[in-house]
Amino acid sequence: MQKGLNTICVHTGEVEDKVFGGAVSPMYLSTAYEYDGLETSIYPRYFNSPNQHKLSEKIAELEKAESALIFGSGMAAITTAMLSVLRSGDHVILQNQIYGGTRNFIVEECQQYGIAYSFVDVNNWSELNSALQAETKLIYIETPSNPLLEITDVAAVTKFAKENNVLTMADNTFASPINQRPIEQGVDIVIHSATKYLGGHSDITAGAVASTHDIMKKVFSKAKNFGGSLADQTVWLLERSMKTLNLRVSQQSNNALVMAEFLENSEHVDKVYYPGLKSHPQHELAKSQMLGFGGMLSFDLNEKCDISRFFKGLKLIKNVLSLGGVESTVLSPEKTSHSLLTPEERKAQGIKSNLVRFSVGIEDTSDLKRDLRMAFSESL
Ligand SMILES: *Cc1c(COP(=O)(O)O)cnc(C)c1O
Repeated sequence: MQKGLNTICVHTGEVEDKVFGGAVSPMYLSTAYEYDGLETSIYPRYFNSPNQHKLSEKIAELEKAESALIFGSGMAAITTAMLSVLRSGDHVILQNQIYGGTRNFIVEECQQYGIAYSFVDVNNWSELNSALQAETKLIYIETPSNPLLEITDVAAVTKFAKENNVLTMADNTFASPINQRPIEQGVDIVIHSATKYLGGHSDITAGAVASTHDIMKKVFSKAKNFGGSLADQTVWLLERSMKTLNLRVSQQSNNALVMAEFLENSEHVDKVYYPGLKSHPQHELAKSQMLGFGGMLSFDLNEKCDISRFFKGLKLIKNVLSLGGVESTVLSPEKTSHSLLTPEERKAQGIKSNLVRFSVGIEDTSDLKRDLRMAFSESL
């Protein structure tokens, strides 16, 4: 029987408390379990402790995947998954705008593994087609993108990949499985930084990979060699946090649309980037492949406003790195997440110095609006 999203969030992947009948999962902290003589002996670095094993079922069910694994960070998940399907001599095509850490991994590490790569506009069929080589094994996408919320046409990319016998991998961190399920659209492997929406309270670093049994077998054999497993205390906290994933993300998505409309009507804002707005150039595409538009948006502050005074003027909304928590946060991509790009690269990507990235939390939008209005006047 198909369970509803909230029921999956609350109940899938619970560890049954057979001793006391407690309502929540007991936390098993053992690193040593009775040896069963099989390859599958329980050991946390084999990603199969009771809590790790059960939590991966929750993530797999949410992503409509056959199987999943939980990692110590989003980057551990991304790098392990990539190196599970790529080997020396292979080529990978990546979307131009991806998370900075992923880009750094590609640029700084791939060469020494003998893996070639091309960054392209994956929505541009001729660019994608001309990047394709006989050695291409993987196309890597991230949608909506950071920080300008561009939407990748998932169906078009996966169709192209399947026609050419190439695997696809999607970073689903921004949308979360509540708003987008890439596997249902033909993507082979989904990865997450669970540090963001899955954790949702800015107190966990974790990651996840979800795919078919066959691919996850390969991911597992790399994962136990690389050793990027997640400690069971954090596994437990992540399972507890994910019980409210649908409630949180639904409220964040509703709030983000309200805030996007508010900002679009503000004289202090030149442009708002949010796939839920009709003014977003890919609004129709977003509508066709997303179940909700998510809690992330960005906006260009008007040149009359000073961005650092704007940040200082915010009292409720915090100016911090990271995203996806229940609390609203902002940052300057130029100064933080995209500071390693050259000014020319930022310009080419459309990242202006007055761009503000806004991770909308679950607070009341009336309070968020008041905070923004105050900060706008402080910034003049
Ligand atoms: C944060 C983030 C990552 C990296 O995750 P960590 O948990 O910090 O390792 C990857 N992709 C996206 C889209 C992110 O926002």
